[in-house]
Amino acid sequence: MKRFVVILLFASFIFGSIDLFAWGQKGHAIVAYIAEKHLTRKAHKKLDAILEGKSLVYYASWMDNIQNSPYFRGGYDRTYTWHYFNVDEGFTPQTMKRNPNGDVLSALNMVIDSLENHQDELSDSVRIDYVRMLIHLVGDMHCPMHAGRSVDKGGNGVPIKWFKYNTNLHVLWDSKLVESVHEWSYTEWQQNIDRCSKSEIKEMSAGTPEDWFTETWKIAVGVYEYTKPNEYYSYKYMYDYAPVVEHQFLVAGYRLAALLNRIFG
Ligand SMILES: [Zn+2]
Repeated sequence: MKRFVVILLFASFIFGSIDLFAWGQKGHAIVAYIAEKHLTRKAHKKLDAILEGKSLVYYASWMDNIQNSPYFRGGYDRTYTWHYFNVDEGFTPQTMKRNPNGDVLSALNMVIDSLENHQDELSDSVRIDYVRMLIHLVGDMHCPMHAGRSVDKGGNGVPIKWFKYNTNLHVLWDSKLVESVHEWSYTEWQQNIDRCSKSEIKEMSAGTPEDWFTETWKIAVGVYEYTKPNEYYSYKYMYDYAPVVEHQFLVAGYRLAALLNRIFG
């Protein structure tokens, strides 16, 4: 029994630390798969070579996984803060003091600039890393609690009850809400939400990473107003926010494809 408790504690530590970082694996896979469906043939071919035959989905959560892998520990410490950009109450993304170690917006802009303007100067290993980061960071940037407040660590410090689970606001938005909205695989998510016309896709893909992050932050502001600490939430919350979750996956997928087509297409 004691050993079982120790294992449980260890598991909650591991999974708890994963939860700190991102849309769950499902969310990242959905975004990457939608993007893959909208790559030009040329971009697809180039990415296939860079990613050594692996798909975008295959590497969608790589950036989270390296933080928990004993094989990479230490090698990617500088990326620890790159998954989010906390914006406190009373500030906007434009007025909030930036983390000198980097945030999701500065990291994404750095990766885009390197791949777009300095690709010839990158070694093969850095180039594959930057492509894997690009896939992941576009996903994280569209996850509302990755634009949450620093005082509660992006919602990690806001306890709530979700159906029968005790959880927190960050974990709710990273995974529990996604899983509750539809019990679909990532391919089913794509089949059921990726149904926009060419002109709609073009419109949704417009703008800059800063515009996209600002949209996400505005959603986060609304989520903080709606969600009170220690409250119980279930179906109403799910129905109110299902369209937001679907929209964020869709625009993230289209925007990721647009970036990759611009760089590699
Ligand atoms: Zn992440």
